[in-house]
Amino acid sequence: MSGISLHQIKKSFGAVSVLHGIDLDISKGEFVVFVGPSGCGKSTMLRIIAGLEEITSGTLKIGNTVVNEVPPGERGIAMVFQSYALYPHMSVYDNMAFGLKVSGMAKGDIDTRVRRAADMLQLTPYLDRRPKNLSGGQRQRVAIGRAVTRDPEVFLFDEPLSNLDAALRVATRMEIASLHEAMPDTTMIYVTHDQVEAMTLADRIVVFNAGRIEQIGSPMELYDTPQNLFVARFIGSPEMNVIPAKLQKKESRSDIVMAGNIIDVTDRTSLAAMADNLELSAGIRAEHLYPATEETARIKGKVVHSEKLGEVTIVYLDIGGSTSVAAKLPGVASPRKGDEIMLTFDNANLHFFGSDGLRI
Ligand code: ADP
Ligand code: MG
Repeated sequence: MSGISLHQIKKSFGAVSVLHGIDLDISKGEFVVFVGPSGCGKSTMLRIIAGLEEITSGTLKIGNTVVNEVPPGERGIAMVFQSYALYPHMSVYDNMAFGLKVSGMAKGDIDTRVRRAADMLQLTPYLDRRPKNLSGGQRQRVAIGRAVTRDPEVFLFDEPLSNLDAALRVATRMEIASLHEAMPDTTMIYVTHDQVEAMTLADRIVVFNAGRIEQIGSPMELYDTPQNLFVARFIGSPEMNVIPAKLQKKESRSDIVMAGNIIDVTDRTSLAAMADNLELSAGIRAEHLYPATEETARIKGKVVHSEKLGEVTIVYLDIGGSTSVAAKLPGVASPRKGDEIMLTFDNANLHFFGSDGLRI
C-alpha cells in the first residue's frame, strides 16, 4: 500500500503550460481532495497520477518507486469519472466482474470480490439488473464498485457526483465517505470544483488555482486560517467578506481603520510590524457579522438582496465605498431592499491580507 509523492510536476500542452510545478506528499490511506475553479488543472494532475497523461517535467512516486514511465495498468490505481461508462447490455454483476475476467482471475475469486464490493456499496439487491434500470446514484455506485473490485492501492475520483441531482449527490457523498472508512489503507484522491464536497470528504484539501497550489490543509485549517485571499473566498459560502482597510501607526500603537472602525492591533505582532498607512484587506465571514442596535453597531449598510434559507437569512448589504458584505442572520428575517441594517463583529474574527493577497 502506497503514498504518493509529487515533486515539481509541470505539464504543458504544446506551448500552453497548465501545471507550473506541483509539490505534494500524500500519505498512505489519506483522503485528499483537489479543489479549485474549472480549468485550474485538477483533472490534468489526476490524469498524470493515473498515467493517462505524460509528465512534461518533475517526478511522480507511488510508494518509493518513480512511476513517470510506468503504464497506467501497472500503477495499482483505479479511477472513477464523472460519466460512469457502464456496459448497458451487462448486468451490474457483470459490469463489476468484467475487468477481473479480462485479467484472467479465477471465477471464485471474482465472485468474492464482486460480492464484497456490492455489499460495501449496498448494491447486492441490484446485481442482476441492467444499468438502465438503476438511478443515476446507483449507476455511479456500480462504477465505484467496479473500481473497488480491482482492490487498488490508490483510488482516484474525478468529479464523480457532478451528473447527480442534489439529493443523490449528498447520499453518494456519504457512500464515498464510508467507502474510505471501509478501505482505510487505500489512498484516495478526489477532484471537485465544489468546496462543500471538499470540506465534507477530505482529510486534507489541496486548493488549486491556475496551475498552482494556493494552500494545503485540513478543512478547518483552510476555513479558519486561509493563507491568502483566493482561499479565503473559495472556501465557505457565501464567500468571505473583504473590506478595504488601512494600517495607522502612532508611537507604539497600531490601529486598523476599517469601515469607520478603529481597531487596536498593537498585539498582532505581524500587523504591527508593517509600514504605516499600508492599504490592506480585512476579511470577515458572513456568520461573524451579528445583528446590532444603534448603540452597538460597528457596520451599517443598506439591504441590496436577501435569501431566506429557513434556519438563517443571508442579507447582502451595501456598506458604502462600493463595498458590499453578506451577513448570515439567524432565523427568518424579512428585510426590504433599501432598509438599513446594523451589525457588529468580534475583532478576533477578522482576517487581514496585504495588497499581495497574502495573510498577515
Ligand atoms: P480542471 O479539471 O481543473 O477543470 P483541467 O485539468 O481539465 O482543469 O484543464 C486545465 C487546463 O488545461 C485547461 O485550460 C484546459 O483547457 C487545458 N487542457 C486540458 N487537457 C488538454 C489537452 N488535452 N490539450 C490541450 N489543453 C488541455
Ligand atoms: Mg476537471
